[in-house]
Amino acid sequence: MPELKPCPFCGGEARIIVSHPAGAYPSYYVACSNIKDCGAKFEWYDTEAEVVAAWNRREGASMNEWISVEDRLPSPGERVIAAWFPMTGEAYLSQSGKWCRSGYIMDTVYTITHWMPLPEPPRKEG
Ligand SMILES: [Zn+2]
Repeated sequence: MPELKPCPFCGGEARIIVSHPAGAYPSYYVACSNIKDCGAKFEWYDTEAEVVAAWNRREGASMNEWISVEDRLPSPGERVIAAWFPMTGEAYLSQSGKWCRSGYIMDTVYTITHWMPLPEPPRKEG
């Protein structure tokens, strides 16, 4: 069984629910076992590994929290949303540790103060 973090809403135990309709591919979702008082559910995924990763990523790492560059930096090359007052935009850190954007080095002009991971891309319908 893969390791699931507790429910982010109530701290309850989370479990994987598998739906395997006859003749179709199985789908997986994670649900809080505290059905009566919480009932948190996470959306359907095609594989167990995906749903576990999605659930575990959700817990703890809020999508809307800026990370100060003094606390932590993204891995070089990782696309992130960077903030340089008063702007935000997609940027990345070069191998030599310089903030870049669309191929130019930003550090000479702007001071990046915060960043956050890019949101998940939209999932394909169907
Ligand atoms: Zn819960």
